[in-house]
Amino acid sequence: METRIGFGFDSHVFKPGVTLRIGGLTLDHPEGLAGHSDGDVLLHAITDALLGSVAAGDIGSFFPPGDPRWKDADSAIFLNLALEELQHAGFRIVNVDTTLILAAPKISPISGEMRVRVADLLGVEMDQVSIKAKTPEGLNLDHVAQCHAVVLVERAAEPEELKSMSAVIESQRQLEDVVEDLLSSVHGVPKKRVIAPLYDTDDIT
Ligand SMILES: [Zn+2]
Repeated sequence: METRIGFGFDSHVFKPGVTLRIGGLTLDHPEGLAGHSDGDVLLHAITDALLGSVAAGDIGSFFPPGDPRWKDADSAIFLNLALEELQHAGFRIVNVDTTLILAAPKISPISGEMRVRVADLLGVEMDQVSIKAKTPEGLNLDHVAQCHAVVLVERAAEPEELKSMSAVIESQRQLEDVVEDLLSSVHGVPKKRVIAPLYDTDDIT
């Protein structure tokens, strides 16, 4: 099974009068994270990790900060695009691990709820999502929220395997045709191929 890893990082500065959004949740806090979108540092880091896992660029290449369409945008939109890119590349999420770095608010009391929300947005189970938090000790960054995210992805289905399976089925059909031709030439029986339906749909009411 082919696996790949993706890494994402993001940071935003706290600003008064802004609603704090982290992990798709609205948190009760006097300040929020300033950004062109809703400033969800956690979702941005996961989005970049997902895009990175399939070498599909980064959040800025899809959603330029200057584009008025993404002003105050819900970051779940960015995450959805990254999931589409992942699916398009033929991969699915194995697990996501993240570390938030911020002085306040405390994340541990709500990390469970946040994991449920992020898992829901990613379409995975809660046990595939880890959200950890640390204070920025010694970094002199008490007014900034940072987030690191790593994601492991695996190939959802091997397109090559599926192709070779259909090739086998096709070659079996050709073999059956050859056998029928041989039999009819030997016995003089006209070539006849009865394909029985799988289900007798007439009887289904
Ligand atoms: Zn961001």
